[in-house]
Amino acid sequence: MRIVFLGTGVAVGFGKKAQQSILIEDDRIVLVDCGFGTMVRLQEHNIATDELDAIVITHFHLDHCGELLGILKARWLSDCEKIDVFTPGGGASFMDSMLNSSPYLINKLRFKIREIRSGESFSVGGLRFTAIKTRHSIESMGIKTGDLLISGDTSAFPELYEDVSYVIHEMSLDFGGKADFHTSPENFAENAVGIRKAFLIHMYPPAYNNRMNIANYLEKHGISAEFPDDLRVLEF
Ligand SMILES: [Zn+2]
Ligand SMILES: [Zn+2]
Repeated sequence: MRIVFLGTGVAVGFGKKAQQSILIEDDRIVLVDCGFGTMVRLQEHNIATDELDAIVITHFHLDHCGELLGILKARWLSDCEKIDVFTPGGGASFMDSMLNSSPYLINKLRFKIREIRSGESFSVGGLRFTAIKTRHSIESMGIKTGDLLISGDTSAFPELYEDVSYVIHEMSLDFGGKADFHTSPENFAENAVGIRKAFLIHMYPPAYNNRMNIANYLEKHGISAEFPDDLRVLEF
C-alpha cells in the first residue's frame, strides 16, 4: 500500500500547502478527504479524477471536502461511472445542501453516499477500512486500515489508537492549546500510547512553526514524529 500526502495544510493558507487530502494506492485508488487544492495536487501526482475508485470524507468541514463537488463534476464531464463516497452519519444531508448551492449539478453527478457508523468496516477492492467516531465539533470519523490510523480532525483519546502502530494525525494546536476538538502535543503524548510513528499534518501556523520542539517533546514520550509536505509518498 502506498500513501500519498496530497495536501497537508489547514483551513488557512500558508507554507504552500494544499488543504487536507490523502491518496491511498493499492489494488484500488482511494482518496481520503479533498480540501481545496486537491485537484491540482492529483494532477501533480499524475492521477486523473477518473482513476479514483472511492472517496472517503472524514467530515464535512470545507478544508476536508471543499473540492468534492469539483471532483465529482470532473468525473461527470469525463463520463465516469458512479463512485462510492464513504462518510460519517449525516453525509447524505450535507451532500444535499452542497448540491443545493450548485443546483445545475443535481441529478448529473454519479455518486453514492455510504454513511458509515463508528466501528463499521467497509472495503474497496482489497483495502479494508474500519471507521471510528472522533471528537470534533461536527460528526466526524477517523479510519483504520491494517495498523495505520488516519485521524481526520479530532482531539486524541485512547480508543483511537487501539490496534494501530502508525498514525497520520492532525496536530492543529501548539503546546498549551485547548484540545477539545483538535489535538495538542500534550493531548497526543498522553493518549497515543503504543504509537511508534506519527506523521503529523493539519497544523495551524503556531504549531507548524514550532514543529521541531513538538518532535523533541514526543520523542521523549516514545513517539517518533515526522511532518510530511505535500506530495510526499510513503510505502506501507
Ligand atoms: Zn474539521
Ligand atoms: Zn480540518
